[in-house]
Amino acid sequence: MPHRSNVPRVTPGKPVVVVGGGMAGLIVARELLARGLTVTVLERSSAFGGCVADHEVAGLRLDSGAESYSTRSDTVPALARQLGLADHLVTPNPAGAWIRFPGKDPQHSAMPLPRSGILGIPADVLDPEIVRAIGRAGALRASLDKVLPLGSLYKDEGVSLGEVVRARMGIDVLTRLVAPVVGGVFSADPDDLDVDSVAPGLRKMMKQHGSLGAAVGAMRAAAPAGSAVGGLSGGMAQLTAALTDELRAGGADLRPDSEALSIARSGSGWTVATASGPVAADALVMAVDGPGAVDLLGDALPRLREDRPQAVPGVALVTLVVDVPELDAHPRGTGVLVAAGAEGVSAKALTHATAKWSWLADQAGPGSHVLRLSYGRAGQLGDEVADDAALYRAALADASALLETTIDEADVVGWKVVRWNGALPHASVGHRDLVARVRAAAASERHLEITGAWLAGTGLVAVIDDARVRAKALADRLAPQAKDPTGL
Ligand SMILES: Cc1cc2nc3c(=O)[nH]c(=O)nc-3n(C[C@H](O)[C@H](O)[C@H](O)COP(=O)(O)OP(=O)(O)OC[C@H]3O[C@@H](n4cnc5c(N)ncnc54)[C@H](O)[C@@H]3O)c2cc1C
Repeated sequence: MPHRSNVPRVTPGKPVVVVGGGMAGLIVARELLARGLTVTVLERSSAFGGCVADHEVAGLRLDSGAESYSTRSDTVPALARQLGLADHLVTPNPAGAWIRFPGKDPQHSAMPLPRSGILGIPADVLDPEIVRAIGRAGALRASLDKVLPLGSLYKDEGVSLGEVVRARMGIDVLTRLVAPVVGGVFSADPDDLDVDSVAPGLRKMMKQHGSLGAAVGAMRAAAPAGSAVGGLSGGMAQLTAALTDELRAGGADLRPDSEALSIARSGSGWTVATASGPVAADALVMAVDGPGAVDLLGDALPRLREDRPQAVPGVALVTLVVDVPELDAHPRGTGVLVAAGAEGVSAKALTHATAKWSWLADQAGPGSHVLRLSYGRAGQLGDEVADDAALYRAALADASALLETTIDEADVVGWKVVRWNGALPHASVGHRDLVARVRAAAASERHLEITGAWLAGTGLVAVIDDARVRAKALADRLAPQAKDPTGL
């Protein structure tokens, strides 16, 4: 493993127990191990990685959750390089995705997603692509952004992304551009998203540049050149495989099928009850979902209960592997984001995975295509997609409509449904206050840290960065003499 193995073990007795073996928990384990601590990871399911997982469909190994990472920082590529996956780093097809608007005629209600913005917010509302997307009246309204006084929008705490966009650029930018993009990324409505959490720095830039469009333009100019996302040839789940291999080789005790059932203080440490018996811990890191973390810690830290987040409704993904040579032309780029109200389509997004990732197209071969449709707009799974067979039928109809290519059952080589329940928490308005309160409650316990997407924010970059910070903070408290051997 790339981490030094000659760091002395500083807790020969009880380990640090990490509850939750998703990306957050695995990264915490890696950092603690590298700092010489003994680590046990308890994972409820039979596999590690949480949302970074894969499955086999029609003989292809495909990501079943996260399939890319944000290139806004080097976090994921650096990790991949450390794990020996440097040769696998790839960028997607630059053709980009399309957007499907409400409208009876699909030909006139779909267009390539304008790419000059952030989360669908345009930098230049009079760009012809944007005018095409939101109409002339919408563009005129949006251009008021340049002249309207900023008012209190950038001063108030607790402002939603929807409020900012509606106030500055109007309803058309919000519903036709921003809502489909954030629905695809966060599975949430823009009115429910804390602007400072999903677009950090945006309001500061508005103040500096005088308008939302100018702020977006400045942020785009400062962003790294090239694609906004990257991937790994062979799939993102290789991160999980490489991490678990490295952890096992480094001496971590990784326990699948080990759900933490309850947690109690025990002297200065903790005892975690599992079906196969209690696990004694010198220190504890919670790396599970928000409701789970609060429920498990509620007896030891009752003040956490006030901040128990709502359970997040599920999303469902349908993966279709189809033999349809017409799709070799990539009729809708790398996929389609669907605006609410698009007639006859219940999916919120379709990823044409073999158009997006050339390594996957090579594996599938000419004429064969991988399509991934996601359901659960703003977390709402309707009755029509309640069971797998219904979802499969909906996916076939939606894929045909969105790609304007008939795809029927005879074309299907394989399909699978994956449901992710509670896995996409979103940063609601007031998120930063909630995080501060949870951090304060955890800080009252010397031997406790809490991490994971419910606090860090959705996405691998946020989750990995936060897990590292938390692991380092705990290691420093437990063994201040242990140096950071990672140099990270
Ligand atoms: C469908 C989907 C697609 C995504 N796509 C992307 C993408 O392309 N790019 C990107 O950057 N991000 C993406 N994300 C988001 C990203 O994958 C997550 O933000 C991140 O992986 C969350 O990591 P985590 O460790 O916090 O949580 P999780 O991955 O949810 O891991 C938590 C783990 O804790 C375990 N657990 C829960 N309770 C217990 C218990 N009581 N005892 C023991 N174990 C327990 C769970 O089984 C799980 O393994 C996607 C997410 C989903 C769901």
